[in-house]
Amino acid sequence: MNQGLLSVDDALARLLAEARPVADIEEVETLEATNRILARSQRSTMDVPPMDNSAMDGFAVRLSDLKDKSSLLVKQKIMAGSVGKALEPGTAARIFTGAPIPPGADAIVMQEHTSIEGDQVQLKKKPKPGEWIRRVGSDVKRGGEILPAGKRLLPQDTGLAASVGIKTLPVFRKVRLGLFFTGDELVMPGEPLAPGRIYNSNRFTLRGLGEVFGCDVRDYGIVPDSLEATRAALRRAAAETDVIVTSGGVSVGEADYVKPAVEAEGKLLMWRIAMKPGRPLAFGSIQKSFFIGLPGNPVSSFVTFLIFVRPFLLRTQGMAQVQPKWLQMRADFDWPEPDARREFLRVKWNAQGGLDLYPTQDSAVLTSTAWADGLVDNPAGQAIRKGEMVRFLPYSELYR
Ligand code: AMP
Ligand code: MG
Repeated sequence: MNQGLLSVDDALARLLAEARPVADIEEVETLEATNRILARSQRSTMDVPPMDNSAMDGFAVRLSDLKDKSSLLVKQKIMAGSVGKALEPGTAARIFTGAPIPPGADAIVMQEHTSIEGDQVQLKKKPKPGEWIRRVGSDVKRGGEILPAGKRLLPQDTGLAASVGIKTLPVFRKVRLGLFFTGDELVMPGEPLAPGRIYNSNRFTLRGLGEVFGCDVRDYGIVPDSLEATRAALRRAAAETDVIVTSGGVSVGEADYVKPAVEAEGKLLMWRIAMKPGRPLAFGSIQKSFFIGLPGNPVSSFVTFLIFVRPFLLRTQGMAQVQPKWLQMRADFDWPEPDARREFLRVKWNAQGGLDLYPTQDSAVLTSTAWADGLVDNPAGQAIRKGEMVRFLPYSELYR
């Protein structure tokens, strides 16, 4: 069983052992940094909030005034962005959300618990000490780390950086990803589909994936099934990119020129991987570029990209966390005849909190990938019975 096949984990470990993070760091505007990988951890040089401020629209008071009274003279009004005067004993300040707490005040009474009569405010509820006051540094402490190196910056991360006044951020240079697609049968949408031809769907899927992972994608299009054309495409891509990913031509058929072409231009390891879909995978290097050759079947190239190319790209980008997180979820389907290889099944997350299986798991049926919400990672030879828990990799986690 599985003789001569490499396990997914072993193949991934070998790939990741080769990946070297791009060393070049560029400084980008924090406003433009979403989706980039942070190259150096960031600390705050300030407290956030920078001063005690009100969490509510209401009235700032001194608790000591409220021992025997419940009505106070309103002597000032403090808006967000302005600074009030010290609170005189026996008075209250009208205050708005985000406005600084005036010296002397030790609680806020929210507007909903007050009524106004002329210049007096009637307090219907006695506040607790510090109530509705956001304390200086309660969000971020000066000197504290706000973002670790190697994190892909999400919108909330750039917002956090901006909240401590960081205008630019050091990020790794984008990885240049070269793509080409082998196959004499391929034509592009918009061109007539002659008999025997098919549309080059992998170009769209793989290019989209490269973009999802924040690469600078160089797309060399369709390369005919010939040794010379494949070698020329590899030379050009190697000169211009960090990682080259191709689809098709890695089987052992007569028109499969990727293997001899990479061997002629650089170094190649051919792996037969114990996974379904996607048995053949080629890994190598050409000049300073890495090469990963994916199978041509649309589902296989999609799944092998997510399982192998994704972590390789993330590691090359300088990302610390490259393993996707997974969920333990209930299978609402039976899978009585598992393959002897580890399988990645296309499933949909249903409204009952379980997983439905796409009826056709054939590696040529691209519809399954578009219908699905992710993949079930099923161990080799393991049957699934309805109601059992399985390991689910949602696209939402894989696309990070
Ligand atoms: P190959 O790996 O080159 O033997 O191709 C395996 C299968 O995938 C064949 O049916 C090809 O026609 C198909 N295929 C190869 N490349 C593509 C592509 N770029 N888009 C869609 N199907 C493809
Ligand atoms: Mg082919």
